[in-house]
Amino acid sequence: MRQVTVASGKGGTGKTTLSLNLAAYLSEINQDVVLADADVEEPNSALYLKPKWEESIVATKAAPVRDEQKCVLCNQCASYCHFNAIMALPSEILVFPKLCHSCYACSQLCFAQALPMEEFPMGEIKVGSSMGFTCIEGRLDVGQEMATPLIAKTIQKASTIAKEWLIVDAPPGSSCSFLESIKQSQIVLLVTEPTPFGLHDLKAAVEATRALGKSFGVVLNRVGIGDSKVLEYCENEKIPIVAKIPHDEMIAKSCARGELVFQKVEDFKKALEDISQFLGEER
Ligand code: SF4
Ligand code: SF4
Repeated sequence: MRQVTVASGKGGTGKTTLSLNLAAYLSEINQDVVLADADVEEPNSALYLKPKWEESIVATKAAPVRDEQKCVLCNQCASYCHFNAIMALPSEILVFPKLCHSCYACSQLCFAQALPMEEFPMGEIKVGSSMGFTCIEGRLDVGQEMATPLIAKTIQKASTIAKEWLIVDAPPGSSCSFLESIKQSQIVLLVTEPTPFGLHDLKAAVEATRALGKSFGVVLNRVGIGDSKVLEYCENEKIPIVAKIPHDEMIAKSCARGELVFQKVEDFKKALEDISQFLGEER
């Protein structure tokens, strides 16, 4: 199974449109595909795909719970936690499960064994199907602040189902959530647009992707707006431009109608063919 993350340094670059069209296109040419929407704070591929959901799982994460009978209020656990998820007060230890990274350090280092780990709900993972392929969506509960554990669980669930291709629709940005979404992938497609903002965010995404040693290429969207700086940057950095998608109002209209763009816009289909070829060469 090959895992491909479709990512972008910033939102609004057309990442989700590309992800779901790529999944549908690969499925149409008889490839086995699973699409995982790992943008867990705002998953929206289902708005287009309208999948028939077949399974719903409550996703949980582990966090410590203080055992008052065993705790001797030594206050050490607060210093073990690098994420400010434990606060020591003179007569109380407060644990904030929403801030916990489930690293188990406090639980394992508490000499009184007074911090057993328990599971807390953090969101939902749904599995369904649409247009001949499997769709998986992770959705963080309102008020939850840590996206990365749910991203990891969503991708993990998808990887147990995928046989040939797993396409991961990553959250925007280049921070922890982005890194989690590319960690297990062999190939990363960075979607950007030829504008100063696009270039700025692409540079951050390239830096992060290179730091993890991933094979990657750029998909340049909305070609025709902006300038040539992204092309020059990619050329100087020897980054392959895998595909170019023109700025075309037919693409926006097709998206708005909830259609698969590659079935309506020839240039978009050509871009998917180029991406498919790149993925084949990177196998
Ligand atoms: S390290 Fe253990 S015993 Fe000490 S305050 Fe924390 S929970 Fe209590
Ligand atoms: S498990 Fe790790 S992140 Fe969570 S409270 Fe303990 S030390 Fe902090």
